[in-house]
Amino acid sequence: MNSFSLADCTTVEAALSQLKDGAVVKAGGVDLLDRMKNGTDTPKRLVNIRNIQALRGIQSTPEGLTIGALTTLAEIADDPTIRSHYTVLADACGHAATPHIRNVATIGGNLLQELQCWYFRSAEFQCIRKGKEQCFAFSGLNQYHAIMDYGGCPSVAPSSGAVALLALNGTVELTSAKGKRTVAIKDFYVQPDANPSRFHVMAPDELLTAIHIPKPAAGTRSAYQKYGEKESHDWAIADAAIVLEMDGNICRSAVVAMGAASPVVRRSREAEAALTGKPITAETARAAGKAAMTGAMPLSLNGYKVQLFPVAIYRTILLAAGQMDRDPSAAG
Ligand SMILES: Cc1cc2nc3c(=O)[nH]c(=O)nc-3n(C[C@H](O)[C@H](O)[C@H](O)COP(=O)(O)OP(=O)(O)OC[C@H]3O[C@@H](n4cnc5c(N)ncnc54)[C@H](O)[C@@H]3O)c2cc1C
Repeated sequence: MNSFSLADCTTVEAALSQLKDGAVVKAGGVDLLDRMKNGTDTPKRLVNIRNIQALRGIQSTPEGLTIGALTTLAEIADDPTIRSHYTVLADACGHAATPHIRNVATIGGNLLQELQCWYFRSAEFQCIRKGKEQCFAFSGLNQYHAIMDYGGCPSVAPSSGAVALLALNGTVELTSAKGKRTVAIKDFYVQPDANPSRFHVMAPDELLTAIHIPKPAAGTRSAYQKYGEKESHDWAIADAAIVLEMDGNICRSAVVAMGAASPVVRRSREAEAALTGKPITAETARAAGKAAMTGAMPLSLNGYKVQLFPVAIYRTILLAAGQMDRDPSAAG
């Protein structure tokens, strides 16, 4: 059994002063405790930030939205401002995991949960992400793995929140004893080819303290849908976050973001080009879904994702445009 000490902090300053000698932050604990129980993480010291009230809450201003890192997924999903003006984020948080987990899981922890790959998450496999040379997924069980941009590691980006925040042009605020810095979600995660042992750009002495989202332009509509093997209690095998800036029925600009396609949440510029300057119809939505698969390189067991993603994107575009109800076969 791995024994560890626990520092319970009620202020950001106290937590930052504890972040040394390999200490690990615990927020809701959903992902961290899973990893500790699996034996993949054996920290000697946990810093519990869950009781820092200053990191909770949602603030709406004329410039946009600030969400404290400890705000739960349920609080975000139920917030009336987020539901009406940042719908894609309410949908993503409201369909992650299960109602029980959403009451405990924080948005900061959601963005920082580790990659979903059963080899990486098993203490028995020493893979490229753990500083070794081998990836077991390429020749092993890869049905839930990436179909794009995977380089030497096809594990997938697990965070539904990150897909929505990428689509909304969100940024994260990182705080250390030296001060604060802001990083765009698009630059926050590290491609495995750039550095297989780093999943994001945060330093061990930093806390993720807040998320900022700029106010969407007038005429913006958005939606997120997640497709999984189960209706609930599971991660996505394909998910899409769509933000459309509309001028009547003409799409002025579009963001098409995908989660479980690659190790890092990604935008499909090809799908966005298929929508920009055009009316949103079943035909343009279908063309965008197809364009999103440009460059897909499925593995031995996940060719089905190349068919599933275009459907997910097509339906989520029509949902965002108000031309379809939420898909009853979507998970959540
Ligand atoms: C059955 C199941 C289904 C799930 N389905 C989904 C899904 O569909 N979509 C989805 O997105 N997620 C899903 N999840 C994952 C779940 O949403 C995350 O595990 C949860 O959001 C993590 O939040 P937490 O607050 O518990 O983080 P923790 O477990 O406390 O922390 C996670 C990681 O982030 C670090 N950390 C947390 N907060 C901070 C901070 N403020 N600053 C610095 N470091 C920090 C911790 O050190 C740790 O490494 C699922 C989980 C389960 C168990």
